[in-house]
Amino acid sequence: MRILILGGTSEARELACALIAAGLDVVSSLAGRVRDPRLPEGAVRIGGFGGADGLAAYLRAEAITAVVDATHPFASGITANAARAAGQAGIPLLVLRRAEWDADPSWDVVADIHAAAAAVRAWAGDSVFLTTGRRDLAAFAGDSAHRFLVRTVDPPDGPVPARMTLIMDRGPYTDAAERALMREHGVGLLVTKNSGGPMTVAKLRAARDLGAGVVMVARPPLPDGVTVVATVDEAVRWAGPGSAGPGSAGPGSVRRGSGGG
Ligand code: NAP
Repeated sequence: MRILILGGTSEARELACALIAAGLDVVSSLAGRVRDPRLPEGAVRIGGFGGADGLAAYLRAEAITAVVDATHPFASGITANAARAAGQAGIPLLVLRRAEWDADPSWDVVADIHAAAAAVRAWAGDSVFLTTGRRDLAAFAGDSAHRFLVRTVDPPDGPVPARMTLIMDRGPYTDAAERALMREHGVGLLVTKNSGGPMTVAKLRAARDLGAGVVMVARPPLPDGVTVVATVDEAVRWAGPGSAGPGSAGPGSVRRGSGGG
């Protein structure tokens, strides 16, 4: 067994740790986007593979026997590539996707970042808290009607909103700190992706407590037919020793059709 974990998330790091503890041979892969990434335990490779074909070639060259795609729910390019590459190489693939945040009826749910930018443009208030990541800032760059409090891990390197206050941080965040930050900047609207998970959920409770609106970017769909679990424990059961073996879906898993996610 030699397992490739496509990472860049806390779940990917937890999974690497658990599988190594179970005695498996694990390689974690990071895209190399973040300047100072949190590294998982064990072997790590960094950088793109060169599309689905490049990833399939890597799987063969490195004698990988199973892939766990534990990338961020919005990293749809690598997720599509992993599904194609695993198919080409004839090896099992599991997608580990943390659950979405529980939907709130007050949210304005939008399909993508451009729809989020349109929702902000249509908003009559002043101060927006933008937490969708530095590579999505360009969609808001033409909006000079609003003030933007922007929080990113690394500094933006493309177009940004003209009236921007930048904070660089990467959580986890507390309710009290999020409330204080949003109060300090007079935030009336929060824009976020539905990343799910505990690390960044405090901003949603803070927005609710302060009566701020929420524009929620919905997740992109998963590729057809992939097997999905929501927790590290389920992924360990799928991949770990004593499991029925990668490819067995297991009780908590779901096979996704189009439009899933
Ligand atoms: P993406 O758009 O899905 O992927 C773009 C390209 O980056 C892929 O085609 C692949 O290049 C390379 N890549 C992505 N993830 C990789 C990985 N784990 N290992 C090796 N190459 C990878 O991805 P993204 O949205 O830019 O995200 C990049 C990474 O940051 C992901 O690993 C993700 O887990 C993490 N992340 C993303 C977000 C987000 O909001 N999107 C948030 C937090 C963390 P090639 O085609 O050359 O193989």
